[in-house]
Amino acid sequence: MRLVLMPLLRLMFRPRFLGRENMPAAGPCFIITNHSQVYDAFMVNLEFYDEPTAGLLTEEYFRGGLLTWLLRSVGGVATRKFQPQTTPVREILRLIKDNRMVVVMPEGGCNWDGVTLPTIASTGKLFRRLGIPVYPVILHNNYLSWPRWARWPRRIPVTIEFKPPLIFTPEMTNDEVARMVDEAILWSPDRSLAQFPPRVPRGFRPASGITKLIFRCPTCGDDGSLREKRGHYLLCDACGSGWRVGGDSFLTNMDSGKRRSSTVHFHRICALPREVRDFGKHGPAYLRALGLPVYQEIDSLHQTLLGNYHCLLRADRVDLIPNGSGLPVEIPLADIHTVSIERTYKLQLRTEECLYQLNFGPGSALQWEYYLRCLHPPLGSMLYRRVNNPSIAVPVH
Ligand SMILES: [Zn+2]
Repeated sequence: MRLVLMPLLRLMFRPRFLGRENMPAAGPCFIITNHSQVYDAFMVNLEFYDEPTAGLLTEEYFRGGLLTWLLRSVGGVATRKFQPQTTPVREILRLIKDNRMVVVMPEGGCNWDGVTLPTIASTGKLFRRLGIPVYPVILHNNYLSWPRWARWPRRIPVTIEFKPPLIFTPEMTNDEVARMVDEAILWSPDRSLAQFPPRVPRGFRPASGITKLIFRCPTCGDDGSLREKRGHYLLCDACGSGWRVGGDSFLTNMDSGKRRSSTVHFHRICALPREVRDFGKHGPAYLRALGLPVYQEIDSLHQTLLGNYHCLLRADRVDLIPNGSGLPVEIPLADIHTVSIERTYKLQLRTEECLYQLNFGPGSALQWEYYLRCLHPPLGSMLYRRVNNPSIAVPVH
């Protein structure tokens, strides 16, 4: 796989390297990095010629087939997002015992807006417990080279920066470990662009997919009135605002000429008040998505299609109303333990008994995830935690 994939990645992302002297020569150790796109784990691997690193990947990639086999053959371990699990931990311990270099993404998943998410607690605990060196790597511009929401990659070079290792001890608190990890791998478009400005502001259809991230109009706040036009524009049918989307994912307002990053727009729409709307026969709800395929998973890795549903996010529950035959399903928000998105469109709600997966088409699964976290605070809000840590806060203007 390395023979095919690695030259392809070099061609696509034209990587540059900084701090090669800080690269680990051998395991056991951890390598941590910020995570904004699917290829990050492989990008970290590019310069490890003698011994490829091993790593943790979401179980989504382990549902069988060629990809699963390839990933396992290079030391990939399946993990379930945000779920404390014993199997991956045991697998990591085995890899560490075999003196492997293990890549871990402390954010617990791929971020949507380029800004590194806070470290998840279980990762910090693991670092403290094992006490082996942790090598931070920053992937500069990985977000801009292919944002998670974007349909197509951009010709923006990625700079891979290796930093000196961190050592954690069992005496440190989880908060101390998390703070050090957060700071070591922090990247944000607004803070870091001056350091490595992208040279190619053009891109192939850069607006394609942007309504997954910008799910409300940044000008009037309207829900569902934004549309992409010809791969280069974002238009609002409610207020008439329009933006030209650049290959660097910055949006230029077509009236005022103001230029702002997609990250700033995303944070701005997240700060707007959320309103209950009347959906006629479906009643009042925050959000409605019509005719989504819904899957259920009871034991790990085996999903069954429940049917096609109209999905409503109400103040206290998610209602699934069958579109055709089938039984209605009601999921109280209080029963939901975790929420996450696989790829860009599979919203997963995990309860004590099972996992529900709502497959969004072109709509924004991210809007649902964000609203769910706001309505049910125990799910945790990454934006909220980020605001609590001023060094990670993103300016809204
Ligand atoms: Zn508007």
